[in-house]
Amino acid sequence: RRQGEQRICVCVRKRPLTCAESRRGEADAVTTSDRECVVINETKVALDLTQYILQHRFFFNQVFGEESSNEEVYQRTAYPLVQHMLSGGEATCFAYGQTGAGKTHTMLGSATGKPGLYELAVRDIFTHLSTSHVQNQAYVSFFEIYCGHLYDLLDHRKRLFAREDRKKAVQIAGLRTVRVESADSLLEVISQGIKERKQGTNGVNALSSRSHALLEIQLKGENLQSAGRIWFVDLAGSERASDTKDPNRQSRIEGAEINQSLLALKECIRTLDQKKQHIPFRQSKLTQVLKDSFIGDSLTCMIANISPCHLATEHTLNTLRYADRVKEL
Ligand code: ADP
Ligand code: MG
Repeated sequence: RRQGEQRICVCVRKRPLTCAESRRGEADAVTTSDRECVVINETKVALDLTQYILQHRFFFNQVFGEESSNEEVYQRTAYPLVQHMLSGGEATCFAYGQTGAGKTHTMLGSATGKPGLYELAVRDIFTHLSTSHVQNQAYVSFFEIYCGHLYDLLDHRKRLFAREDRKKAVQIAGLRTVRVESADSLLEVISQGIKERKQGTNGVNALSSRSHALLEIQLKGENLQSAGRIWFVDLAGSERASDTKDPNRQSRIEGAEINQSLLALKECIRTLDQKKQHIPFRQSKLTQVLKDSFIGDSLTCMIANISPCHLATEHTLNTLRYADRVKEL
């Protein structure tokens, strides 16, 4: 790790209003005029029924407005993590936020073919490998965590089990790990996994909003020793964490699980900063699987995605408060 480099970088990304939202006349409640500050304009109603605006101000390492491209977000978030991974380190990049806030747009890219962080990272990794004198190999795995269970996105959603080996390293038994020789073949493997992830989708209840997707890219040396690893985690919709009062039993179970894992994640990332002995990674499957990311020399970046919509203000404030806690010392 280079001197002065932060172990935890917490960023906010505001997406633009969609065409449908603009047509409906949805108001934009989020201002990002400053690179490090985001302002939420909450509309309140006073006792005498007059409306007033309550401004909430939050500061982060980076704030990206709706004009920011994936390219720009990549340069300031995942790029330093990729560099760290290429020099043998561990790194993790999270996309956090309510469903519809732009997590998948950030990670996977846009419908119009603009690449997301996955692809930009993969291209950089292979550019490096092809010019490096060290013969490292790239491996990819891709799985989903739903209700505390692991499903392999590269193996027909096969159920997987995580356990610790004798050296206390977390192993996922049976996880399909594919060796890849080029950026294009890695991207092809990712898109297979995405197809698997999209199955069972139905509108707002899409499985993708209720599960975490974990993409792992590893480098290994000639003797298969670890030579760097990066995780990209597209987290479950954070609004689901409040589904714990939903009348539907399954939604309640899912909500409780998501709530638990997002709280555990926050605690584990915070321990990175405090050099604590005890990391509470056992509190959720998500943090258990990512255990190695919370120790040693790891770098973590969280991109908190927010919607500009006035109607989403409550969820947006929840997202920013969560991100604020992650960042805090
Ligand atoms: P999430 O994965 O958090 O549920 P999505 O990434 O699917 O959210 O985004 C919801 C919608 O908003 C999609 O139609 C997506 O294309 C659009 N969108 C998200 N972020 C951006 C952005 N930065 N620029 C343009 N459109 C965006
Ligand atoms: Mg998504």
